Amino acid sequence: MDYEKYMDMALEEANIAFNNKEVPIGCVIVYDDKVIGKGSNQRVTKGNVLAHAEIIAINEACGYMGDWRLEGCTLFVTVEPCPMCAGAILQARVKEVVFGTRNPKAGCAGSIYNILQDDRFNHVVEITEGIRQEECTGLMKEFFKKFREKSDLRNIPGVGKNMEHHFKSLGINSIEDLKEKDPEELYIADCRNKGTEVDRCVLYVYRLAVYYAENEVHDAEKLKWWYWKDREYRKGN
Ligand SMILES: [Zn+2]
Repeated sequence: MDYEKYMDMALEEANIAFNNKEVPIGCVIVYDDKVIGKGSNQRVTKGNVLAHAEIIAINEACGYMGDWRLEGCTLFVTVEPCPMCAGAILQARVKEVVFGTRNPKAGCAGSIYNILQDDRFNHVVEITEGIRQEECTGLMKEFFKKFREKSDLRNIPGVGKNMEHHFKSLGINSIEDLKEKDPEELYIADCRNKGTEVDRCVLYVYRLAVYYAENEVHDAEKLKWWYWKDREYRKGN
């Protein structure tokens, strides 16, 4: 089987995701030297945690086979599958997984865990890795560089140049630095620096900023919504 050819097709799917501002992961499933399912990551577009490239491709392939079993199929994916997808791949009894690059933060085909090859399960999936690795890694890196200069405080909804300046005067130079900080303490320190009165409305911006750092909600409206939801939830418990 021509691994490069099919991985190139998976990369095309990953590029579709990239253009939709989704984490660029693409997948194709091959049976009998024929593509019977493909998918690109659509988690944000669909607002659905299940909409990973592999799950979408598995759905399509099951439709083609008219069966939940994908025995004899080879699944090509640009990035090492996560625990959810590795689980689905195992359940579908896929014969072989070919992936481009490892995912040290979520990979379950060898990185964190190897769900695909634990012989306590009743099926073991063959793994081939490193096909078109440079392209697969390159696309991921490009994506995170372009859409998520993660560290930049200005990515936080509601944080402009002024606010960024205040954070920096408190020794907060990146979003990372905001994690596990007490927004109340930060704000009061900032007021002390500036010699201004404490204003509850401004405190809210600090709370949102810390919440953002910890939860990575990129949309300003959703950020507010989740913030209040979480507060209500905590109060209720
Ligand atoms: Zn996944």
